[in-house]
Order: sequence, then structure tokens, then C-alpha cells
Amino acid sequence: MQVTPHVYVMHIDDDSVFHPGGSNNYFVGDPRAEMVLIDTGDQQREWTQSILNYYERLGRPKLSAILLTHSHQDHIGGLDRIYDAMPAPVRCHPKLVEHLAKMVGRNAVVPLKSREMVRTGGDVALQALFTPGHEVDHVAFYLQADRVLFTGDCILGASSSTVRDLFSYMKSLDLLLRHPHDTICPGHGPVVPPPRGAQLVRWYQQHREEREQQIVDALAKGLTGVTEITRHVYPRNLRQGLRAAAERNVTTHLEKLVKEGRVAQTPSHYALRGQ
Ligand SMILES: [Zn+2]
Repeated sequence: MQVTPHVYVMHIDDDSVFHPGGSNNYFVGDPRAEMVLIDTGDQQREWTQSILNYYERLGRPKLSAILLTHSHQDHIGGLDRIYDAMPAPVRCHPKLVEHLAKMVGRNAVVPLKSREMVRTGGDVALQALFTPGHEVDHVAFYLQADRVLFTGDCILGASSSTVRDLFSYMKSLDLLLRHPHDTICPGHGPVVPPPRGAQLVRWYQQHREEREQQIVDALAKGLTGVTEITRHVYPRNLRQGLRAAAERNVTTHLEKLVKEGRVAQTPSHYALRGQ
């Protein structure tokens, strides 16, 4: 499906509980000339085949690069087979180079520079935005020509993202907001078109700020452990798999507050400073 003049999405309905709404791979550029592929999906043959079929339907354009948003398996798992079928320079965050080199060979992988412009067909370029938080090697891509942000797993279309390092993540959201856009093309969940596409990053920020406030309130009430704080700020009927994810999320909020000097951590619990 064509999203904007230079963006085509291949959507697949995988059914992970962590990212409802399926997953996306993008071809960007001009199908009559050159394109880049963003992400290569999981290693399941079916997913790889869907990407290759879509590439056929686009008329097998020259591929100027394979761009990867981050190191998680559902984004790089299909790389070796995709690379065999359509070889092109593999571009990723410098921290991901060694890992990918084991899949496709050292010469195939070229690290991105922060803010680098990757040119492709249709006379457009995607800018690499280093956006750690969900993962330390996460990169988003900005297509100014179509006012589109490819957000990988930093911003999802149908759910909130899991975050390893919230301190970095909030800075990454600030960086995304400095790039004017109307459409969000996420790694998972539906593409978010205008007008909501322009609001989504800010909405994510507010969502995190509200969650942080709930956690600060819980600490102020004297709750000190991750489990009890999670029980306080999340609905009680969370599904089993999501309960663990919620606890990890609360932990990353607490780690951010510690980093900012607002909360003290003892070996067993957290407490607001100055109380
Ligand atoms: Zn993912």
C-alpha cells in the first residue's frame, strides 16, 4: 500500500501481545528508480517471503540500502535471506555493526552517522536520527520530502512501546519533535496519518509524564517496591505477560528518577528524596 508519494508499506499480521496491530516493513523512494528497505522482519520464512513478494510487486527496483532501526529479532531476523535475495549496503547504528556482520559479512555493513542523509530514488533522502531508549542502538528515519517519521519501535501505531532507558528515551522523543512531520510510520501497528500523526509523539511524551507522576504519587504515599507500585498505577486485571512488562516499565521510570536525583534507591526499594 502506498502511504505518501515516496513511501510504500508491507504490513504483516504477526500476533505478538507486545505490539498489537501487526508489523510493518517500508520501501521508500521511487519504484521506477531506486528504493531503500526499512527493517527485515523476523526470521520466519513467511515474513521474509512477504517482503520479497512485495518487492516483486514494486517491480524489483534497485535497492540503495537496507536500513535497520534496531537490534531486536523482529527487525533483523530476516536480514540474511533478504540480503541474499536483494544485496545492498546494510546500514545501522554503529553499536549494531558487529552483530550484523556475523549475518551478512563485515563488508556488507556500513555504520550510519548521527543525522546522516541516506539518498535514494525520487531525489529524496532519509535522515538517520539516533534515538536510544527502546534499545541503545535504535535509529529513527526522517523523510522531510513527505513529512514522514519512521519511528521503529520508539513510537508504535497501536500501543505504547517498551523502554529500557527512559532517560534517553524522553530525549529521543524531543529529537523526533524537532523534525516537522504529519505521518508516523511505526515498526508495529497501523501507519498513523495526519492529523493524528502530527500529535502522536507529543501524546507519547504526555503519557510517560502522567505515568511518572503516578509513580511519584505512589512513592509519596510510602510505597517502596516495584511490585506494589505497579499494582498501584496499573489496572489489576492486566494479562499475565503484560504484568511483567508493566513492572519493567515502572522500574525504568524509577531508574530515570534516580538518574535525575529525585529518588534514592536502597538495595531493596525506592523512596522520594528529602522525605
Ligand atoms: Zn519490534
